[in-house]
Amino acid sequence: MATDMIIVFFGELSTKGKNIMDFIRLLGKNIRSTLKAFPGLGYEIKKDHIYILLNGNPYDAVAKKLVKVPGLLSFSLAKAIDSDLEAIKEESLRLYRQSGAKTFKADCRRIDKAFPTRSDEVNRAIGGKILFACPGSKVDVHHPDLMIHVMIRKEGTYVYGIKEKGLGGYPLGIAGKGLMLISGGIDSPVAAFLMMKRGVKLEMIHFAAPPYTSEKVIDKIHDLLHVLNDFQEDIKLYVVPFTELEKKIYDVAGPSYCVTIMRRMMMRIACSIAYKHNDLVLASGESIGQVASQTLYSIKVIEEACTLPMMRPVCTYDKNEIIELAKKIGTYDISIRPYEDCCTIFALKDPVTHPDMEKVKAIEESFDYMAMVRDCVRNVKVEHILREEEEAF
Ligand code: ATP
Ligand code: MG
Repeated sequence: MATDMIIVFFGELSTKGKNIMDFIRLLGKNIRSTLKAFPGLGYEIKKDHIYILLNGNPYDAVAKKLVKVPGLLSFSLAKAIDSDLEAIKEESLRLYRQSGAKTFKADCRRIDKAFPTRSDEVNRAIGGKILFACPGSKVDVHHPDLMIHVMIRKEGTYVYGIKEKGLGGYPLGIAGKGLMLISGGIDSPVAAFLMMKRGVKLEMIHFAAPPYTSEKVIDKIHDLLHVLNDFQEDIKLYVVPFTELEKKIYDVAGPSYCVTIMRRMMMRIACSIAYKHNDLVLASGESIGQVASQTLYSIKVIEEACTLPMMRPVCTYDKNEIIELAKKIGTYDISIRPYEDCCTIFALKDPVTHPDMEKVKAIEESFDYMAMVRDCVRNVKVEHILREEEEAF
């Protein structure tokens, strides 16, 4: 009896011992949750693979979802068959014929040593079967069009061909939870994706300055988060009412120091919210030198107000590399919709690229910013952006 199934191969398993099982269990849980719209899928979680029994569900639709699960290195459509040499040869021939390949190589792993035929003999038997049945077929041990993988285990044998590439990285949540500063631009959604891919579950914080920034910015953030829902099904969003503080900053700091001070206030507010909700780190879409506030001189002065580690996943990326990734994950078209960020409205002229810490401190001491920071934290609005479940297929 042949059963259609998917074999899932894991990503970086640099973690050891007990952590490996935590990794695999979390990956299994995340996969189940991603595939919950498919009726009757079966799961087997093993030490080195996860098996998904398709039970009539179409492979392509399931695969489309699996490529978005962090922590998954690759996966293959496989047939589970009896551990019987004739059945193995038949299934290998069927796979070869179906693939349209010309050259092939059989690669058998005999994990169950009780199976009487040795791996190299199984490979030769498969080769003989295909060469005999298919005129024009050829073995190529170096660069075959099709690699026929045969895994002989105690519970049965799995035969599979092409491995599809997954996202890689770590299962979402394994690394803990962080707070991402999301602006609606191109960079921060890409940075968020990279954090998620590395196993960090994210909460999002956005600083809104109505009426100077329109409600459309919030719609845009919602749309961006819906795309990121592909990788994390439930995203918590904190929207900070930033208008009063921002106006005050503009008054006391003037145009050249406005961005520096504003970003230091963002750090304070974000840290306060992160502590409250057990977020371990902050993250942003900053890239070295991209704008005045992202020179190393600015970053140093701004981060002085930040009491948590700040992750900057795209700090070494060129803009075109960020754009390329944004297109790949599907956030680009949303990000380029015109909008006004609170940064762009107030901070107009000549933002300082080498801010002076003494001057920054003097500006900050000129008003009771902590009271305003506390107001922002107190009046933050919380939302949950949830994955929209479509029909499975
Ligand atoms: P992005 O393309 O993500 O908007 P950017 O190139 O426009 O980035 P900045 O506006 O300087 O750069 O912002 C740098 C980072 O600061 C953003 O990537 C984001 O993480 C954070 N940020 C900027 N504005 C906001 C905001 N209004 N709310 C939350 N985070 C923000
Ligand atoms: Mg921006």
